[in-house]
Order: sequence, then C-alpha cells, then structure tokens
Amino acid sequence: MESQKSINLLLSETERLKTFESWPNEVDDNCTPEKLAQAGFYFLPCEESPDNVCCIFCGKELDGWAPDDDPLEEHRKHSKACPFLAMPQPFAIEKLTIKQFVEFMKSVTCLAVENQFNKKTKEFQEYADSVEKALRKHVLG
Ligand SMILES: [Zn+2]
Repeated sequence: MESQKSINLLLSETERLKTFESWPNEVDDNCTPEKLAQAGFYFLPCEESPDNVCCIFCGKELDGWAPDDDPLEEHRKHSKACPFLAMPQPFAIEKLTIKQFVEFMKSVTCLAVENQFNKKTKEFQEYADSVEKALRKHVLG
C-alpha cells in the first residue's frame, strides 16, 4: 500500500470510513462501516472475499461478516496482539499525549516488523523445503 495512504488510514477513522464506499453488506444494527472503521478496519475486498476488511494497526484481515457481528468484538477474538485493542476504546489518536502516541506507534511498528519477519521466514522455509525435495529426488532418483 502507498505509504501516505497507509499513514492516513492509521491516523484517521474518517479516512478508514471512506474506504467502505462500496461495502457490499446491507447497513445493519451492528456490522456497519462506521463500526468497522471505529474498530480499526479499512475495506480491502478481493475476488474471493468481497467483504474483506483489514486492521491498519495489526494487519489482521477478516471476512464473512454477519449482520449482527460486533466488529470490535470480532477484532478482539481474532487478534490478541493488536496494539489498537490495548488502547482505551473508543480510541481517538488525536487525544493521546506525545509520549502515548510515540509508545503506540512503536507498538504498531514492532508488530508490523514481526509480521513481516514471520511471513518471510515462512516463505524461506517453503523454498528450503522445495529445494530439499528437489535434491532428494535428484540424488535418490
Ligand atoms: Zn488490529
């Protein structure tokens, strides 16, 4: 994602809400674009998941929303390490002190680095496994 857009989504619930323009689900009591944006999500649909959303703070993606789902509750259920969820809710980034803001951004960045590291580790392991398999096939016939 373009970094300026990513920063805007991180800093502003209003910017996250704007991404839900083509949200496919009917507006309902609980699972509304407003509540999804308030819970840290932005809209990130793909062909297999037309109602996919992603948390800008932890990178967790969720789809298959039911009308009575509570976005914040679902977020808590599926992402224990999200720094956004560790903050008092409803969360307002503009109300943080500079110190709280720096600490919060440090947590968000550390989690992003950890997620990226785990993803790369997994990719490397898959590649190493495929090389091992090819070598075994070559050596053992
Ligand atoms: Zn999250």
